[in-house]
Amino acid sequence: MHILLTNDDGVSAPGLLALAQELRKLGKVTVLAPDHNWSASGHTKTLHRPLRVKESVLADGTPAWTTDGSPSDCVGLAVLGFFPDKIDVVLAGINPDANLGHDVTYSGTVMAAMEAAIWGLPGIAISLDLPENHPVLVDFAPAARIALQITRAVLERGLSKSVFLNVNVPNLPEAQLQGFSITRLGLRIYRDALDRRQDPRGRPYYWIGGEAPSGVPEEGTDIGALAQGAVSITPLSTDLTCYPAIQDMSRWNLELEQPGS
Ligand code: MN
Repeated sequence: MHILLTNDDGVSAPGLLALAQELRKLGKVTVLAPDHNWSASGHTKTLHRPLRVKESVLADGTPAWTTDGSPSDCVGLAVLGFFPDKIDVVLAGINPDANLGHDVTYSGTVMAAMEAAIWGLPGIAISLDLPENHPVLVDFAPAARIALQITRAVLERGLSKSVFLNVNVPNLPEAQLQGFSITRLGLRIYRDALDRRQDPRGRPYYWIGGEAPSGVPEEGTDIGALAQGAVSITPLSTDLTCYPAIQDMSRWNLELEQPGS
């Protein structure tokens, strides 16, 4: 079993170390992660500059690889042959913030799992629902144990080719977790605000700031599961097609207008 680990927080992130230490119980772990924080970089493919890959080490001294590419690039590099051994499963995380609802499209963590699915590999993104101003030292081991359990299940049962998983773990003591909940994406409420400031030379610059997003804790959704203390597993698909809209829009009877008519 050959497991590829990546993240969007950078190779030195503690969530990645915890994941590596736990997943080693399942097989050979290879780490290839970005050399800096790519959080909220979404699905990024680097096309207009070369990628460098360097040897690195995790905080426990075990070898890792790092690149100046994006989280999705890490998966692409690995799948396209940077490592001689075939990869069986890809995990991304553990992200130190939940990835819920529309977050999945911004998330480098979740999009690294999507990149795995695009290449026909099972991809699992895992995030811990830490509060915004959490302490520097966080115990990622419980979330890593959950990641191991889900990875085992995925390898036993398999995932359809287009499917990848977005896992969110509540920030609770393990004994208080309310099991697993298979969910759909919920509704995130973004409270972004545009901050216009002036640089020292008098020119304006902009910062998209505001408060952290909230969400609607509707039952059956990822946000609802976390609100109830359950580990949320949302199966996502690489197929973003909205099938009902195909039927609706077919009735528009759009026809090409002749030039000049
Ligand atoms: Mn991140």
